[in-house]
Amino acid sequence: MPSPQVSRRKRARDQRRINTSTRGYGTEHQRLRKVWAGKVEHGEVSCARCGKWIAPGTPWDLGHNDTDRSVYTGPEHRKCNRATSAHKAARKKRQAHQAGTEARHSRSW
Ligand SMILES: [Zn+2]
Repeated sequence: MPSPQVSRRKRARDQRRINTSTRGYGTEHQRLRKVWAGKVEHGEVSCARCGKWIAPGTPWDLGHNDTDRSVYTGPEHRKCNRATSAHKAARKKRQAHQAGTEARHSRSW
């Protein structure tokens, strides 16, 4: 008889996988990521953010156009992608501070 704890954990993992493709980042994102992953692995891609080469094995994110989120700009170094997110969060926090509201609970990404 299987341990109920194990099967519960497995079910949670399956649900999380479903959520990833149903909200926001859909299959198109995943398909594109796979295509780009092949190119990055072959060392054929430069960062859409800083223009420097992305070495195979480097963590990277599929970047969006800053003004149009439906447009993919291509792979970016993860630190470049996260750097802009942090930038935006800092700006938002500064505005929130000026407005006198608490932004501590908002996620930066
Ligand atoms: Zn970069």
